[in-house]
Amino acid sequence: MLPAEFDYAAPASLDEALALLAGGTNIRILAGGQSLLPTLKLRLDRPDLVVDLRKVPELSYIREEDGEIAIGALTTYADLVASDLIDSGVARCLAEAAASVGDLQVRNLGTIGGSLSHADPAADIPAAALALDASLVARSEEGDRTISAGDFFHGLWATALKPSELLREIRFRMPANGGGAYEKLRQAASGFALVGAAAVAEMDGGTIEAMRVALTGVSSGPFRLHALEDRLVGETLSEELVREACDKAGEAIESPLSDAHASAEYRVAMAGVTARRAILRAAGQWR
Ligand SMILES: Cc1cc2nc3c(=O)[nH]c(=O)nc-3n(C[C@H](O)[C@H](O)[C@H](O)COP(=O)(O)OP(=O)(O)OC[C@H]3O[C@@H](n4cnc5c(N)ncnc54)[C@H](O)[C@@H]3O)c2cc1C
Repeated sequence: MLPAEFDYAAPASLDEALALLAGGTNIRILAGGQSLLPTLKLRLDRPDLVVDLRKVPELSYIREEDGEIAIGALTTYADLVASDLIDSGVARCLAEAAASVGDLQVRNLGTIGGSLSHADPAADIPAAALALDASLVARSEEGDRTISAGDFFHGLWATALKPSELLREIRFRMPANGGGAYEKLRQAASGFALVGAAAVAEMDGGTIEAMRVALTGVSSGPFRLHALEDRLVGETLSEELVREACDKAGEAIESPLSDAHASAEYRVAMAGVTARRAILRAAGQWR
């Protein structure tokens, strides 16, 4: 099906894009187009104006600044996968999440900012952003507004972004003693997560100093497993400890999804398995 008619603008700078966003409310940003274009073609959305960000050069970068990683919103999954910086330490959960997205074409076009802003309940990147405790920098004509990943996702396809804002940057800390991992059971056709778990561990020798674990694909949005994290922090890492802590992880899922691809019971049961694998790899054990 063809989309309903809309106006189209391709600003050449961030300021130009922000001015366009400030001029109305029924406006959509086009990044990689991997979710927006199908939505428009199915006429699930009928914006008045589409603002194409792909000619805005200052939104695509990966850099290290003051012990933090900063990633521009227009950075593609393929860029993340190819980056040695992202394939290291805690950031590896992001590299693995990006590598697991869809197929090569989707990874070449889809962007980190598009994934986070779209907030699909089965998307991979949001779980990594939560596990990294990332800061998401929104920008409007009024300036920057920093939103923690924990406050960013508001359920099914909903985020804290205002209509006049775009997501400009994603930032997170790179502790020297940290590791990250992403585990996913894929839906065979699309590659979307039936259950996905991102984990970030900070270790002091064999002791778990910090642990953050987030699930995706199992309910209306991604979320952290705070009780499980609390059970692990301060303990000596062992497979038995992690297995015991993850055993009932699925019970934390409120209103688990059930569809043609996987039942709620399956998702609940697999939540603990994916979480356990991600935690052990993030902490430097298992495979
Ligand atoms: C065949 C197929 C398989 C897929 N498999 C997976 C998968 O396995 N895992 C997965 O996670 N995803 C998967 N996806 C979805 C894919 O990851 C999309 O790329 C992603 O959801 C959106 O990123 P995008 O850059 O393409 O954004 P777009 O499609 O351009 O935009 C998506 C939405 O976000 C908004 N937006 C985009 N950028 C910004 C910004 N900077 N600030 C504010 N709003 C913005 C747009 O207005 C739009 O509403 C798949 C998609 C396809 C087509």
